Amino acid sequence: MSDVPSQDLRLGDFPSQDRLGQDWPPAVEIVNEAGRSPIVLLCEHASCHIPADYSRLGLPEAEVRRHIGWDIGAADVARGLSARLDAPLFLGTYSRLLVDLNRPLAAPSLIPGLSEATTIPGNREISDAERRRRIETIFAPFHAAVADHLDRRRNQPTILVTIHSFTPVFLGVARPWHAGILFDRSEAFARRVIARLLHEPGLNVAANEPYRIDASGDYAIPVHGEARGLEAILVEIRNDQISTPLGAAAWADRLAAALRPEIGA
Ligand SMILES: [Zn+2]
Repeated sequence: MSDVPSQDLRLGDFPSQDRLGQDWPPAVEIVNEAGRSPIVLLCEHASCHIPADYSRLGLPEAEVRRHIGWDIGAADVARGLSARLDAPLFLGTYSRLLVDLNRPLAAPSLIPGLSEATTIPGNREISDAERRRRIETIFAPFHAAVADHLDRRRNQPTILVTIHSFTPVFLGVARPWHAGILFDRSEAFARRVIARLLHEPGLNVAANEPYRIDASGDYAIPVHGEARGLEAILVEIRNDQISTPLGAAAWADRLAAALRPEIGA
């Protein structure tokens, strides 16, 4: 850990795409960057892509494609929400198993050796150089793009909303919520969103479930949201709700309806 840059991400020092090749796409996909909404969307766990060099980190394809590799359905919801709200959206383009974009650099789960009950062979005992490679080619450019966008809109109203999904059963325990709205300082905003979602009969939406925001375990809300004084919430949707295009579209509709009153739309 000692030799890992902390908040100093050494911007501008990243390997070029030419050198990395096509299996190493740019670390961020930006959708609708000129969107006029005050809402800025992030979807850090949008992809389960792992470059071939890594041999899927020693995992079978099926493991990488289940929830430990990415947030199933989250990208579809985020794209739908971006379109409905005319909001800029930043999507991660690599599997969270390589480096988790929503972890501080000091978190042990930044490069997980274990995810749920699955050991990740390619993450065990990695060298400092490999750790630095993943941070410099994936983590740092993603967050630099988000920070740059937020810097440029400093004089505009901005609300940060990040889109995630969770597995219906974790370590054998079923989760009853259809979705959770996670917050730290933005409690009033989060509770308004939850109240609007709960107008729909039968929908179970909870505050701070199935996780809680924690500066030692989260990155986007504390760093891009609260450190900038922005309202910021993290949306977690149970992935069985959004694993089809129809389900994802229904959640994009719900979230758009719940967020529009916040932006006078
Ligand atoms: Zn996630």
